[in-house]
Amino acid sequence: MAQLSDDCFAFSGPLLRLDEMERLIGERVVPVAGIERVPLAQAHGRTLVDDLRAPIDLPPFDNSAVDGYAVRFADLRPDGATRLTIGGRVTAGAKGTLTVKSGEAIRIFTGAPMPRGADTVFMQEDVTREGDVVIVPPGLKRGANRRLAGEDARKGEVALAAGTVLAAQHVALAAALGITTLAVRRRLRAAIFSTGDEVVEPGSPRASTSIYDANRFLLADLLARAGTVVTDLGILPDDPAVLEKTLQQAAQSHDIVITSGGVSTGEADYVRSAVERVGSLVFWRVAIKPGRPVAMGVLRGGTANAAFVGLPGNPVAVFVTFVRVVKPLLRRLAGARPQRLLALPVRATFAYRKKKDRREYVRVTLARAADGEIEAIKYPQDGAGVLTSLTETDGLLELPEDVTAIEPGTRVGFFSYTALAG
Ligand code: AMP
Ligand code: MG
Repeated sequence: MAQLSDDCFAFSGPLLRLDEMERLIGERVVPVAGIERVPLAQAHGRTLVDDLRAPIDLPPFDNSAVDGYAVRFADLRPDGATRLTIGGRVTAGAKGTLTVKSGEAIRIFTGAPMPRGADTVFMQEDVTREGDVVIVPPGLKRGANRRLAGEDARKGEVALAAGTVLAAQHVALAAALGITTLAVRRRLRAAIFSTGDEVVEPGSPRASTSIYDANRFLLADLLARAGTVVTDLGILPDDPAVLEKTLQQAAQSHDIVITSGGVSTGEADYVRSAVERVGSLVFWRVAIKPGRPVAMGVLRGGTANAAFVGLPGNPVAVFVTFVRVVKPLLRRLAGARPQRLLALPVRATFAYRKKKDRREYVRVTLARAADGEIEAIKYPQDGAGVLTSLTETDGLLELPEDVTAIEPGTRVGFFSYTALAG
């Protein structure tokens, strides 16, 4: 469970900007303490605890990047072809080191150690062979096609930074450095449930005024992708006593409890009163659309506290607030560095007006225009409850706080759903 103070989410301003929110999370939320050592094969998706310094140079020795001929650059004529005698042959994995004498070339293959004295490699496609002589053209640079020891990662330097969420490429780098196990943070444990008297489980009988639960399925997958272990607590009625009991139990064995529905203003405020009996609650009026206020709280657990996040009920608002609000919190709790997400510039095909001082996300499909540029086409329905607006589009345009209008042709930043959910 998480080491959270009762007031760690306290925020009294009228509107919480997203950058301010990330700063607040970074300052007040402490990563969970548990650490475990796992073999590389189980490290994918886990968060690295400490900087990993390279125990060896990578590559470990100077070697050839191509199949060809290793030479001394000083032997080459700058103005014309050079004839060199082939003085030996070295393959990848060959033991010992050859020496290239002046006036000689060594036949070499990709990954084979550079012969002593050689500093440059000609690709076999670029040379002419005449028996045991090779004729090489002018114009190659010194050091061409040679990979220097340590040019990928230098022994003693940080190869992977603490807080990296390990993807395939990070694990591959650790393997290339000869590492067999890594110290990672323990996985976060999250409990989820949906609220609402109208919400029923898919497959169960549905009254004419009921809807099937979509949000738990959305959240379970988004959380799993974020490396979290999920406990699904089902659908709870709009009943403070049931909510309170469930929250109280969930807080004993989870780092975070995430719910959807029941936090909108004006509605009977079941979630608020239940949370306040088990801990404390504040509403973050995050300056984001879609996404109404997000309820943030701390639940008293057995030995430590659990974070509480109450998301809106509408599925699109759940998605947007999850990727923009919950994910930074999860990453911080998990000891991961903030996600590096750069919006890709695309060209809007539509006009759009928005309020200043809040960040707005517009669901769009991408297409290639006749001039080769990528264009973003807005989905016609923008209701926060319209799930097909997510399934029929590619991602979100991000309209920053200071923007109030875009016109057809305006450059805007785009995030794919894959990038946001990954
Ligand atoms: P609420 O925030 O509880 O007022 O809910 C806002 C809207 O989202 C209402 O139309 C709810 O019926 C709908 N909603 C709430 N929970 C879910 C859910 N789990 N799946 C799909 N829609 C939901
Ligand atoms: Mg509700």
